[in-house]
Amino acid sequence: MSTLEIRDLQVSVKLPEGELKPILAGVNLTVRAGETHAIMGPNGSGKSTLAYSIAGHPKYQVTAGTVTLDGADVLSMTVDERARAGLFLAMQYPVEVPGVSVANFLRTAKTAIDGEAPKLRTWAGELRGAMERLHMDPAFAQRNVNEGFSGGEKKRHEIMQLELLNPRVAILDETDSGLDIDALRVVSEGVNRVRATGETGLLLITHYTRILRYIQPDFVHVFVAGRIVEEGGPELAEKLEAEGYERYLAGAGPAT
Ligand code: ADP
Ligand code: MG
Ligand code: MG
Repeated sequence: MSTLEIRDLQVSVKLPEGELKPILAGVNLTVRAGETHAIMGPNGSGKSTLAYSIAGHPKYQVTAGTVTLDGADVLSMTVDERARAGLFLAMQYPVEVPGVSVANFLRTAKTAIDGEAPKLRTWAGELRGAMERLHMDPAFAQRNVNEGFSGGEKKRHEIMQLELLNPRVAILDETDSGLDIDALRVVSEGVNRVRATGETGLLLITHYTRILRYIQPDFVHVFVAGRIVEEGGPELAEKLEAEGYERYLAGAGPAT
């Protein structure tokens, strides 16, 4: 069973002038296969910075701490190596991939991660099945990745990748943002299918509690000013829904 371990992670963002602005102030988190964690926090608290840092985005510099996946040092891996190691990062603002169809993109990703190309006959069926489960038009497979995708299509594409690539640990950053209620349900069902396999550790990052009505997290972490300030079970999400983040912000102050 896989484990992602984040220890005392401190990260600064590289500003255009070359300066470093500290964002993450020592994050500790362990995500095991089969567990669903929710990170919740106000805007600007550093949630996406955490996701980008684990993804290896060049704008973010780790100044202290460690991230390991089954003991392997994630921070020394290239972005490709991180994906091959079984990390899946769905970004808040997915990029366009000009001239590459959804079908080819997914097949290339699957090949890179598994180390061999998926069998053509079974792969077509898997792709079709994933699209059916997400209520997507089969023509979607021939469109270019993210080109002109609606918000809902981007998120469905994200979940399609998640289901087909079968990662050890998946980090979903604001997968719920910009979804109408039907799309939210379809996307949540996809996440819950992945969850039900018990093979993937899920880290859901969100500002709002609404997705947590459809996906019940095992653990909730409140994230304020670059660190986790409270942890609990699903009841904590309900408390946040009722009370908001105010009481954390009052005592948060600047990250030290
Ligand atoms: P969240 O996802 O919780 O809303 P972010 O991680 O996006 O928070 O941002 C945390 C803080 O870091 C914010 O103050 C934001 O302005 C700053 N920040 C993040 N990325 C950059 C960047 N590329 N350049 C400058 N500031 C950044
Ligand atoms: Mg934000
Ligand atoms: Mg964010």
